Amino acid sequence: MKKVVYLDYNAAAPVRPEVIAAVAQAMAETGNASSVHHCGRTARRLVEEARENLAAAINTRAARIVFTSGGTEANNLAFKGSGRTRFLVSATEHDSVLAVAPDAALIPVQPSGLLNLDALDQLLGQDASDCFVSVMMANNETGVIQPIEDILALCHKRGALFHCDAVQAFGKLPIDLMGLPLDFMTLSSHKIGGPQGVGALVLGKGIEVKAQQKGGGQERRRRGGSENVAGIHGFGVAVRLLMESQGLLPGGLSPLANPETSSLDLAAVQLLRDNLENRILAVAPHAGIHGKESPRLPNTTSLSMPGVPSDIQLMALDLQGIAVSSGSACSSGKVQASHVLKAMGVCDAEAGSVLRISLGWQSSQQDVDLFLEQWLKLYEHKGRKQPVSQVSDPQQKEALL
Ligand code: PLP
Repeated sequence: MKKVVYLDYNAAAPVRPEVIAAVAQAMAETGNASSVHHCGRTARRLVEEARENLAAAINTRAARIVFTSGGTEANNLAFKGSGRTRFLVSATEHDSVLAVAPDAALIPVQPSGLLNLDALDQLLGQDASDCFVSVMMANNETGVIQPIEDILALCHKRGALFHCDAVQAFGKLPIDLMGLPLDFMTLSSHKIGGPQGVGALVLGKGIEVKAQQKGGGQERRRRGGSENVAGIHGFGVAVRLLMESQGLLPGGLSPLANPETSSLDLAAVQLLRDNLENRILAVAPHAGIHGKESPRLPNTTSLSMPGVPSDIQLMALDLQGIAVSSGSACSSGKVQASHVLKAMGVCDAEAGSVLRISLGWQSSQQDVDLFLEQWLKLYEHKGRKQPVSQVSDPQQKEALL
């Protein structure tokens, strides 16, 4: 049987075995977390323990955490519940941000993928007290890490509220909300080895949100609906494992890792990722690695193979048991070039040939070797030795797409 090579952690990380056991156990409990009898109190305890774990991991108060059905809902709640009327969002945000504020002004990024701070400065104007700004901590396609401290300082200086989608950064970068007073932060469980369909919106000191999902008074009246007890419990266990395995303590990373847990060793992940990139660049000099010159997450590579559309690569790799993601958005069956890469100035043709490879806690050197073997076969047979961006004749360029 072919080995499954899973290199799509930024889409969803494999759920940790300890989490699967914890979710199953929680599902066996009967009770609604809002009920006052002992069954309800057991369910409540599971939810509140998860809230405490999460609060400790990001150094905030548990009361500021609103559990949601995932990152998408948390992003929606922040925008719609903030009470602000003018929205500024970076051009490389996730669709769940771009779609919730279609009239938002887009803050451009530089070719490096880093936000253009001067443009943000201008867009904010002198008085931004009606403004809500959203910039992600790290990008899901390229892994590029934004200078969040600088962006936050500028927003607060002008009176804007600042929201940060930290879905991809959580677990890979230290997050200390005492030192980084974000107004809103979005998290999602399934990127750290927790269950899908669970996430959180974290509120800054003194910040409130108006519930968008109306119903009961759950989550301190910020999000109506019975809590997903088993899912939230699983999220809490995934957070605890993360803290244990990385020694992720409030305020940052410590070297005290616990080898007993299904650990995420970020240094090892980065070694694998760098090894993959270096080996590709050594034999395929026209392959593009987007965002490489910027600070990046240690697990992510956005890789273009000029001349071979992403979906062709994706299917060929899938046939070999290798799961990666196309760097492009697929809508109505048509693969579109990634808006993230376009915003970085990558031409459509090159953006249309990108794969996203993302590693995590179960990734091994063998995974990287198997991926490389197949990717290089494709490159030899189908890849062009010249990047499309260097083809000047528009007709020839079109033919290469
Ligand atoms: N934000 C970012 C940066 C993401 O990468 C994702 C998911 O890929 C989301 C938000 C949405 O999170 P969820 O899948 O939990 O709704």
